[in-house]
Order: sequence, then C-alpha cells, then structure tokens
Amino acid sequence: MTFTDQQVADVLCQYQTPFYLYDEATIRQRVRELKQAFAWNEGFREYFAVKALPNPAVLEILRQEGCGADCASGTELTLAQNMDIMFTSNNTPAEEFVQARELGAIINLDSLEMVDFLAQTAGIPEVICCRYAPATEVGSANQIMGEAGQSKFGMRRDQVFTAFERLRELGATRFGVHCMAASNSLNNDYYPALARELFDLAVEIRDRLGIEVEFLNFAGGLGIPYRPEDQPLDLAAIGAAVRREYETRLQGLKPAIFTELGRYLVGPAGALVTTVRHLKHSYKYYVGVDASATDLLRPAMYGAYHHITVVGKDQPADHPVDVVGSLCENNDKFAIDRWLPEVEPGDVLLIHDAGAHGYSMGYNYNGKLRGGEVLLGADGQARMIRRPQSAEDYFATLTVQ
Ligand SMILES: *Cc1c(COP(=O)(O)O)cnc(C)c1O
Repeated sequence: MTFTDQQVADVLCQYQTPFYLYDEATIRQRVRELKQAFAWNEGFREYFAVKALPNPAVLEILRQEGCGADCASGTELTLAQNMDIMFTSNNTPAEEFVQARELGAIINLDSLEMVDFLAQTAGIPEVICCRYAPATEVGSANQIMGEAGQSKFGMRRDQVFTAFERLRELGATRFGVHCMAASNSLNNDYYPALARELFDLAVEIRDRLGIEVEFLNFAGGLGIPYRPEDQPLDLAAIGAAVRREYETRLQGLKPAIFTELGRYLVGPAGALVTTVRHLKHSYKYYVGVDASATDLLRPAMYGAYHHITVVGKDQPADHPVDVVGSLCENNDKFAIDRWLPEVEPGDVLLIHDAGAHGYSMGYNYNGKLRGGEVLLGADGQARMIRRPQSAEDYFATLTVQ
C-alpha cells in the first residue's frame, strides 16, 4: 500500500474529501527504477505521458528526475512547456503543430497524410518521428487498445517507408520510429516483443532507404497490478531482455530507446480518497460515497478493477457490497460485489492505483464538481496542488446566465 493509515488520517485533518492523493517518493522511486533498467542504453529517455496526470507539480517532479513529456494537445504542450517534449498527437490541428515547433518538440506523425500537412502548416523540422502500427499483435492483447488492424493510430509498415522518403525530400535529416501496441500489459515480454518488431524495422529502413534511425520510442503500455492477485512487471528483467535483442538484432545500429510511460510511473502513486455518505439495501447492499464516476471513470468505462480499502479498519472483508457514486447513471460504480469490512457513514475509503488516468479523465456530468489534488511531499508534508472545482468555475463558461 502506498499510503499508511496515519498518513491519510493526517491529510484528512487538512482537506475535505473527495480528493486525489499522490505520493512524491513513490513517483521518484519508480522513475529511478525505470532509468536503472535501461541505463545500458546511452540515449535512453522517458517522456512522461502527460495525459496520465496533467498536474504541473507532478510534471516538475518528473522533470527533476530527468523525464521529458509526451503531449497530445495544445493544452498539454502548454503544461509541459519547460520540459523536452515528444508531440505524439493524432488528427492534429495546424495550430498545435505550430505550437509544438515553437516549443522545439519532437513531432511524431500519426499518419502518412500528416507529412504534407505538416510541411504546409508548421514546416518540416530536422528531427521527425513516425508512428508505426503493426498489422499483427505484439505481446499480449488488451481491451483498451483493441485489436491490431482496428486501431485509429499510426501507419502501416509500408507507409512508414513512404513517409520517411517524403520527409527526407522535404528536409528532415534525423528520424525516429514510435509504436504503442498495448495498454496496461502485465506481460514481461511485451517490451521485448516490441523491441524485436522495432529493431527489425530499423534494420530494414537502413537497408532500403539508407536512413539510420536515431531513436525508437516504445511509448507506454506497461501495466500495474490493479488486483491483489496480479503479478507486477519485473522492470529489471524487461530492461535486460530488451538489451539482449538490442545486442543481437540491430546489425550495428545504435538507436536511443525512448519510453512514454504514464500508468506505470504514477498509477500506484495515487489514490482517490472518498467518504461514505449513505448505506442502502434494496436488491443489493450499496455503499454510497462522496466521489462519483466523474472523479474516476475507469471502472464505469472499462470495467476496470481498483482495489478499495477502508482507512483505519483491518476487520475481515466479509460484507459483499457495490461501492457507488451519486450520478443518475447505473454504471456509476467503483466496485461491484466487492468484499469490504462493515462500513458506516463517515468512514473513509481509499480507491487505490488511481494516480494515472484518474483525475485527468474526470468530467462534469450531472453538474458534479471535480475534487482537488493533494501531493504528499517527500518531506512528509501534504499540500494541495489543485483546488476543488467551485460552482463559479462550473458556470464560468456560460455566456448567458
Ligand atoms: C496513453 C499513451 C501513453 C501512456 O500510456 P500508459 O498506458 O499510461 O503508459 C503513451 N503514449 C501514447 C501515445 C499514449 O497515447
């Protein structure tokens, strides 16, 4: 568990639920383990996927740990403007390419059609990357990315060659390839399988085009053990397995390896803290809390599991309940048929592993206001890094009152 009961109790004296709580020490430790696993690769760099946890206080921690940022929109570019940026967008408007170029970002093109669009709008930079979408599965399949060949992202293999030739004609001189073929994968062979795919492609690009790819971006997709029975990934073993592929398949090429991890770095570092408001017994037993799917969408959207504990209660989990929010929407459930200790109104629940794709996927359905974000610093002090949304915030964009 990332937080002790005492730590949470102290934070609860300062701030009202619902809020997200993040642990700085955990974030730093996970980045260091990642860098250690790939320390053998000279140019290794992590570009943190900003969409996972787009808070400047967290981005600053990651910047201090040597990370760049992976952005996909204009506002994400603005959030990350003092970091080195990889701009991995899709269906991109012209002004975002212009903004990315002004910030000196590496632009990662999602489609062959974007080559000429970029040339006509922001111009072709010296360094350019293309996003490759393999036609067949890499590593194990997963529900979030969907089937190979069904993805809206990236280019076919033959299109990568066409794009590189065209980009070279238009003035690009340094090239990279990006590929994200899984999400939340707990398969230790996912990155090694991706390495085989990308290393072979890099060799073929050199043989056919004479272009020596400078970097290969493995993107995100490393998973975390959301369920108590899940086995965590072995990062050191993954780094070593990728290294073996690197040393045997690249035929003299020496590309840097980049990653764009979001979930792996910050998922376990965050929890949604919420208070039990009401109990209800109709056909089932319900525990109603003061957070809703508007705060954490993953269970409603993906049927995702998030482990839940009751702060300060170690009693046996012998009550089967649904943990629900207050939306007029029946998928507004953080857990279904979950065994918890007996709870009562006022008890505080921790919804674990919510640091990634948690706050950032929130929304305002039913006029629900968003909770805040609190960072537990490495010095043990908690501070609010985003205040809760107010009704004034909610009404601020209306032009007719
Ligand atoms: C979402 C995303 C990531 C981060 O994914 P995680 O599963 O959080 O590691 C990285 N790169 C791209 C292009 C993405 O869309």
